[in-house]
Order: sequence, then C-alpha cells, then structure tokens
Amino acid sequence: MTGLPPSSPSPARGLPARGLHVITWGCQMNVYDSARMSDVLRPLGYQPVETPEAADMIILNTCHIRDRAAEKVFSELGRLRKIKDERTAHGEQTIIAVAGCVAQAEGQEILARAPYVDIVLGPQTYHRLPEMVARAARAGGAVIETDFPAEQKFDFLPDAAAPQTPGNLTAFLTIQEGCDKFCSFCVVPYTRGAEVSRPVASVLAEARRMVESGVREISLLGQNVNAYHGAGPQGDVWGLAQLAEALAAIPGLNRIRYATSHPRDMDAALIAAHRDIPALMPFLHLPVQSGSDKILRAMNRGHTADDYREIVRKLHEARPDLALSSDFIVGHPGETDEDFEATMQLVRDVTFAQAYSFKYSPRPGTPAAGAPLQVPEDVKDARLQALQALLREQQDAFNQSLVGQTVPVLFTSEGRKPGQISGRSPWLQPVHVTGTPDLIGQELPVRITERLTNSLNGVLEEEKVYA
Ligand code: SAM
Ligand code: SF4
Repeated sequence: MTGLPPSSPSPARGLPARGLHVITWGCQMNVYDSARMSDVLRPLGYQPVETPEAADMIILNTCHIRDRAAEKVFSELGRLRKIKDERTAHGEQTIIAVAGCVAQAEGQEILARAPYVDIVLGPQTYHRLPEMVARAARAGGAVIETDFPAEQKFDFLPDAAAPQTPGNLTAFLTIQEGCDKFCSFCVVPYTRGAEVSRPVASVLAEARRMVESGVREISLLGQNVNAYHGAGPQGDVWGLAQLAEALAAIPGLNRIRYATSHPRDMDAALIAAHRDIPALMPFLHLPVQSGSDKILRAMNRGHTADDYREIVRKLHEARPDLALSSDFIVGHPGETDEDFEATMQLVRDVTFAQAYSFKYSPRPGTPAAGAPLQVPEDVKDARLQALQALLREQQDAFNQSLVGQTVPVLFTSEGRKPGQISGRSPWLQPVHVTGTPDLIGQELPVRITERLTNSLNGVLEEEKVYA
C-alpha cells in the first residue's frame, strides 16, 4: 500500500513507490533544504505527496529562530502521531523525521518526549538521510544525527538531481551556510555551525542545471551570504561579487538575488557589482536590527548606525533604483526609549521598501538571553507596533511610487482571476496583468496602474522586450 497519487512519476527502478510529505517552517534556507532532502530520497523511491495522511515518510523541517519553537514542534508532532497511529492500524508504516534547527538544538528532548519519532537530523546531515532511513527501518529504533560532520554535505548531494520542482522559473540556491559572527541574540551559529562556503564550480554547475530546466531567476542563499568566500577553479578564493558575475554570464539566467546579507560584509566589490551587473536585482535585504549604536554594540553586530547609512549611500550611488529591505529587533536587553527612537530615526533616514520586524525573543544558550535589563513584553509590543506602522507607511509609499512607471516583470504563474497572469517586479512585488499563459516564463515590460495591499496591477506594454 502506498500513499502515492495515481499520476505520480514512477519511482526509482526496482523500489516500491513511497509517499513523502515535507512540512517546512522558517527561512528560505529551510525551503531549499527541504527540496534537497526530497532529492536525496528520490532514489529510494520517495515521491512527494500532498498530505501527511498519504505519506510513508513525513519530514518536519523546523526553525528555532524565535518564539516557542520547541512547543510548536511538539504540538505538530502530536498531530502527526495520530496520523501515524491511524496508518499503523491499516498496516501502513510511517517514518517521522524531525529536521532543521530545533532538531539540532533539542534532539535528545524530542526523542524523550516523542518516542514515535524515527529520525532526528540537524541541518548539516541531510545528505545522510537515505542511510538513516535504512537504519531506522533495520533497528526499529530512533536514529539521531546532529553532529557537525567532517564532510561537507554539498559534496554528497546527488549532482544529477533535477533542481527542486521541475518547471519552476525561480529557485533558491544555497551557497553558504553557518555563521561565525555570534550576535548576542541569535542561535544560528549554534544550530547551523561555522561559516562554510560551497566551491565555485559546484555552485555554477547547480545554477546551470537549474537554468537548463527552465529557471530564470536564482536567489542565492546563506545565513551570511555576502561573506561568501568559495574555492575558485584556480585554487583562488572568490567573493560574492565575482560569483555573481560568473552566474550572470549563464545564458538564460535573467535575474540574480541574494539573501541574507550582513552590513559588515558589504564590500566595495559587491557594491560595484550592483552597478556593473544588470542581472543583479536592485532590491537588497540588508538587516540592520537596530538604529542605536549602544544596542548594536550589545548585539555584537560590529557596525554602527552611521556605517549602515554610509553603505546605503554608496549602494544608491552605484545603483540609484536600488531599494532596501531589512530586519529589525525591538526590545533587545538594555533597549531604552531613546535607543528605540534611534531605530525609528534610522528608518526615517534610510527608508525601506519592505522589512521584517520582531520582538526580541530570548533564545536559550545565547548571551542576550541571560543579560540584565530584559525589556517588558508590553513595552516590546508598543515599540513593535510603532515601528511596523512606520515601515508599512514606507512600503505603501514605495509601491505607490511605481504607479505610472513601466517595470520589467518576470511572469511565473497564472493569476488568481481568470485571464490573468502574475509575476514579480525587480523589487519582488507580485504584479498581475491581463495576459495569456504562453507569456509565463518571459520577462516583459508592464506599466503599473494600481497599488493593491501587497501587490500591484498593471498592463503589458508591447513595444519593449527584455532579453
Ligand atoms: N544573518 C542575518 C543578519 O546578520 O542579520 C540574519 C539571519 S537571522 C536567521 C534572521 C532574522 O531573525 C534576524 O535578522 C533577526 O532580525 C531575527 N532574529 C534572530 N534571532 C532573534 C531573536 N532571538 N529574537 C528576535 N528576532 C530574532
Ligand atoms: Fe545570526 Fe546573522 Fe548574527 Fe550570524 S550574523 S549570528 S546569522 S544574526
């Protein structure tokens, strides 16, 4: 008995078809990791299925960055346990695997509290998943793999695998992982390990495969993506600027993005790349976290608010249409009203097209969690509301500024309304136009006619065509 729908592609030769359901929480890197876990399991006969009820294996890919992460995992596991019990009653086996950063941080706790979980694996070990599945089946007991292995997982991932979902026009490509910066509030250096960059040849090969399968826009991912320092083909070391240049030379790749960047790694070469490489989209996610130098110091960020303003000035000099996105934390230990006002001032000075803002959430084991002067919840709430209102105002103003302009849109899907197609602007806003599905996959000029809450409406302009 299998959970596969009748139309699924055939599984690997000689192996029974098995259903795989992956639940992904958290960042884009988790989305990428989930896709690669599906890739490594494909040779075992695992094919994606829509629901956990139909799956012979369920992977919960978790995120530990904020808010009661572990409780969320245990509550989801409770739901999955019922599904597993139900399937067992019908004679069907189900493997439950917990992956990602909560697995890394709380692996033993997961096995103790949820003994029906079969596999616990950290983000650095998913290339070993097939072996873990075999061990789980053999041993009938739980398998846990949360070490940081000596080998690099990227060297062990299947090369020939189709990139993520075939037919996709946009794709994520992880080029760097881990972090050595140890910001006071952040679990990443503990859950993802030390900073590692993939070799240039491996990144370029994966990008070429993606483009051959139809991808037109690649988002390069890394916890500190602009700290990229990959081994080059001549034994040299390449930075992100050099990598972006080589990627831009791949015929058929229209757009390149990267996230998440750290202000300290925004070097002159990368700023110049925004001037020189048209495929590098003019939209940059550059987290600042706070506008107060005192708090930036306490956060161990290694830059001041004015350093950030100066980087933005240089970026605009290089690429005048560049718009910014950022991350903010309010209520870091020690943050006073004045510190918060400094954040508001930085937002007014820089202006953001989009941003994410969070209340500080103590993460066990991080320096800030045990710091004195924790900020009360109601104060954090009020600051978050004020900040989000200002950021929303700026986002609306940015979107409004595009009304009447003609912008290139990469069309990626049919729209929600009949006769509509949708795509993304260079600044990532969804754009909807009246158009036929044969235009999907093309980058076409669109005159923006209307701002909606989180997207834009426009009309196709026929005369211009982008290569
Ligand atoms: N490497 C990026 C940087 O240096 O800014 C950030 C990556 S982090 C995975 C994503 C975002 O989560 C951070 O920028 C921060 O705003 C937020 N974040 C991380 N830890 C947090 C915490 N303990 N409380 C609230 N927000 C947090
Ligand atoms: Fe976390 Fe980013 Fe700081 Fe690294 S640089 S510790 S990923 S916030």
